[in-house]
Amino acid sequence: MTSDRPFSASAPPAPDFARASLFLDFDGTLVGIAPRPDAVVVPPGLATHLRRLSDALEGALAIVSGRSLPELARFLDGFDGLLVGSHGAEARGMAPPLAHAPEGIGAVQAALSAFAAREGLLYEPKTLGGAVHFRDRPAAGAAVAAFVDTLAAASPGFAVQPAKMAFELKPAGASKDRALTALSALPAFAGRAPVFLGDDATDEPALAWAGTQGGFGIKVGPGDSAARYRLPDPQAVARWLGMEG
Ligand SMILES: [Mg+2]
Repeated sequence: MTSDRPFSASAPPAPDFARASLFLDFDGTLVGIAPRPDAVVVPPGLATHLRRLSDALEGALAIVSGRSLPELARFLDGFDGLLVGSHGAEARGMAPPLAHAPEGIGAVQAALSAFAAREGLLYEPKTLGGAVHFRDRPAAGAAVAAFVDTLAAASPGFAVQPAKMAFELKPAGASKDRALTALSALPAFAGRAPVFLGDDATDEPALAWAGTQGGFGIKVGPGDSAARYRLPDPQAVARWLGMEG
């Protein structure tokens, strides 16, 4: 097939552990989406599998999530490899931090929390921002979008991050593709072709970025994507990574 457009319907080739680096989103990629973010079910043995995967890649593996770093570390207790949280704003073991908390974060979090309480929606505090979820009440989506847009416009240093049935305010400079660019300079990743797997709007820049760096993106689940390849769900991701059994 000859086309200039990204073709993101086909299954990816098997991972090349000798030449690739792997960057994996967490929610919707390694684990299924839960009704509430704290209700996510982590498959038994996931941390052990990730440790083995990291060894096979000689350390060229990172988990790159929108979640806060401590939360991600708790879900992946037993995996001591590279973790990147808050949409690329913070990385475990990397100094200096990839991004700083903008001034006024307390006021932004208070405003999000008060709005969510007023609307009967779930507020999720994050290290460097906060999210309002409307999975329980999809009709509230437009009101949430309008509120976070207004709040972001009045809050220098913050940007809106749309997510699955949620809107979030995060540090304006934080993005997964920027984090991946920084990680690629680390010795473990240098000279390898980056492969990024993600399922969400927040993953799109990084899915496209991997394709410009000699690697490729893999979109997990349905929906338009700049990724070159696609896998249907986290179970298929686990199979592709050789994590079964
Ligand atoms: Mg995700």
